[in-house]
Formats: sequence, structure tokens, C-alpha cells
Amino acid sequence: MKHYDVIIIGAGAAGLMCAATAGYRGKNVLVLDNAKQAGRKILISGGGRCNFTNQKVEPHQFICANPHFVKSALARYRSSDFIELVERHGIEYHEREHGQLFCNDSAKDIVTMLLTECEWSGAKLQLRTDISDISKTGDGTFELTTAKGDYSCDALVIATGGLSMPKLGATPFGYQIAKQFGLNVLPTTAGLVPFTWHSEQKSRFESLSGIAVPTTITAADGTQFSEALLFTHRGLSGPAVLQVSNYWQPGQAISINLLPNENALDKLLSTLETHPKQSVRNTLSQWLPKRLVEALFDATQLDKALNQLGHGERELLANNINQWSLVMNGTEGYRTAEVTLGGVDTNELSSKDLQAKKVPGLYFAGEVMDVSGWLGGFNFQWAWASGVAVGMSV
Ligand SMILES: Cc1cc2nc3c(=O)[nH]c(=O)nc-3n(C[C@H](O)[C@H](O)[C@H](O)COP(=O)(O)OP(=O)(O)OC[C@H]3O[C@@H](n4cnc5c(N)ncnc54)[C@H](O)[C@@H]3O)c2cc1C
Repeated sequence: MKHYDVIIIGAGAAGLMCAATAGYRGKNVLVLDNAKQAGRKILISGGGRCNFTNQKVEPHQFICANPHFVKSALARYRSSDFIELVERHGIEYHEREHGQLFCNDSAKDIVTMLLTECEWSGAKLQLRTDISDISKTGDGTFELTTAKGDYSCDALVIATGGLSMPKLGATPFGYQIAKQFGLNVLPTTAGLVPFTWHSEQKSRFESLSGIAVPTTITAADGTQFSEALLFTHRGLSGPAVLQVSNYWQPGQAISINLLPNENALDKLLSTLETHPKQSVRNTLSQWLPKRLVEALFDATQLDKALNQLGHGERELLANNINQWSLVMNGTEGYRTAEVTLGGVDTNELSSKDLQAKKVPGLYFAGEVMDVSGWLGGFNFQWAWASGVAVGMSV
């Protein structure tokens, strides 16, 4: 049985970062993955350009049952550290809105960089390897049975990611290992995911597919995002919707402000003064896409002139624009989700080195644990920072 100081399961963002970090510290490292390619999620991320981090990363941009948990790892490996690494490898990048950093060319550059770092550090990567059994011996060593032979190690790192995008090889393996060693795993759901219509909403709004509008969307708990909303055949998507999905529970309403930073009632009243005979349809169509106006309100309302609207009717119209309340049917689920909410309970782990408190030598890195970030490069920053935190202590 070949022995390593460290075996990392999962050659994704967190696993590769952890491998290089531990390798540079002189550790004998093996990374195992059942896929035929390393970093597959990185390759498709950010529309193929990988939103690899964000200029401004703060703990409140992460969802975790223990909001303090992420602080230590994030403080020790900052987005500026990753930017420095990217620059050292000569990868050109650009900044988009909200501080999001993307590769100029391709997400492949990031995978190549991580694989190069692993190679330079001496960490070994073995793909297409199914792991069938893991056990811990009396002397504290972990033993792994795989389709390609048996291995043992002093430190075992689980970096198998979440459940989103099963067609890219996502598996519940990490959760199963956590449970096998007696660790609590919090229920998982799809995050950063589009919403779907109820059937009656679908017949009313489906025709809006392709329309994008700037919005502010508020979740039932008050969390708010000001970004674009995109109507799709199936429901609602776009950055504002993906962000708010992280804070949504089934059955809860979301409130959509279709005229962020403007008071629709004030606007109606000032138009009433200048153009009292203008129709509601023409008035609203100057503020919002016409097709959206037609879908939101019925013809009897839209055909009226502004001076035919009663006081209550004006308020109702304005309210529907500034606070459009919608109870969506559900989400598109793991099939299209960017992340998985929930996972290995962080109360089971030390926030310093991400080692299981009850199982010395067993570590977790990346999305497999109950940490998910906002849209905008935060999930990768968590993968890099947690990978480094583990790599520094194994
Ligand atoms: C479409 C899409 C776009 C995204 N875009 C962005 C973005 O632009 N910016 C951002 O910050 N985040 C983005 N994310 C989220 C980001 O990809 C993840 O949060 C990040 O990859 C998590 O890193 P990880 O190392 O924990 O897991 P992963 O990168 O998912 O890696 C897990 C690895 O474990 C391996 N594995 C799984 N099960 C087993 C098993 N049983 N045996 C062996 N190996 C196994 C997998 O093959 C994989 O290589 C995106 C996600 C998706 C789905």
C-alpha cells in the first residue's frame, strides 16, 4: 500500500489549491478524482471566462449556519493573494461591475495555472479513480481502497464539492464520508439558481422570455440585491434572481422593484400634472418594456387616461411596480444551480484549519461544507481560501 502524507479527494478548485499549498510545504501529496479531467466546474464557470474572485470580499457575502466561521480562512488568504498568483502566471483579466474579476481569454487559464502550481509543488494528480472504501486505523492512518489500488495517508482532505450540476460529475461522496465518521451534515438545497413559474404564472408571463430589466429584489428575510432580472420560458433568472435564491424558502414571496431608485407614485402624479389625458399604457411603457406592462396589468387599467384613475388605483399601480410580490413555484434545482447550500456542518470543524474536531487528520475544503457565497467570484474565493487553510496545516 503506497503511503502519502496527504491525500486529497477532489481535483476541483479547493482540492488543487490545497494540493499545491501542501506540496510547497514539502508534503508528499496525492490528489484523487473520479473524473477524467481536473477542474471541470472551473472550465465552465463565468460563461467560460471564470469569475475567479472579487475585489471586495467580506464575510457577510457568505451563507453559513455560523456566520463567523468563514472569517479566519478568508482573512488569511485574500482575493489580493489570488490576484497576485494570477498575475504571476501572466493571465490577463478584467473587472466587471460589482468588483467581479474574469479572465480575458478563457477559464482554462485558471485550470492550467492550478495544475502548473501542483506540478511545481510536487503534488501528484490521479484522475479516473473511483474510491470504494475509506477507513481509519488504530494508529490514526487513513486507508483508501480504490479501483486503481490501495493508498494510505496521515491527513485526508475531502474536497468533493457540492451537488450542483450532476452532469459534471457532482456526487454526495463528501457528505457520505462526513457521516461515516460521525459528523453532522446539514440539509442541502440548490443555490444561485433560477426560479420556476406556477402554471398560471407561466401562461401569463412566458411570452416575456428574453426581457431583462434592472431591479432590486428583496427576499422574505429582507436581504436585497440590485441587479438585472431576466424573464425566461421557465421562470425568472438573471443575477438579482440567482442572488436572492440563496435566501429563499419554498412558499415565500419575493418582492421585485421594477423601478429601483424611483418612486412610481411620484412619477405617476407628476405625469398626471403634465399629461393628464395620457393613457396608463403609454405612461408605463415609457418606464418599462411594453410587453412587461401588458403582462403586468389588464387592458381595462391600461386603457384609462391618467386623470381617470382613482386615488386607490394609482397607489395599486405604483405598488405593483415598486413592490411586485411574487410567490414562485420553485427553483430549477441542482441541474442548473451554481452552488449547493448546506453541507458538512461547520460546527464539526475548526475554523482555523478546517479539521474535523472529532476526527484528527480529516479535513474539508471548498463547497462540500456548509459555506456558499454570493454570485460574483465569492464561491471560488472560498475554494481558494479554504484550500490554502487546509494546505497550510496538513
Ligand atoms: C455553471 C457554474 C458556473 C459557476 N461560475 C462561478 C464563477 O464564475 N465564480 C465563482 O466564484 N463560482 C462559480 N461557480 C461555483 C464554483 O464552481 C464552485 O463553488 C467551486 O467549483 C467549488 O469548488 P470545490 O473545489 O469545492 O468543488 P468542485 O470545483 O466542484 O470540485 C469537486 C471535485 O471533486 C470531484 N469529485 C466529486 N465526487 C467525487 C468522488 N466521489 N470521487 C472522486 N472525486 C470526486 C469532482 O470531479 C470535482 O473535480 C459556478 C458553478 C457552476 C455550476
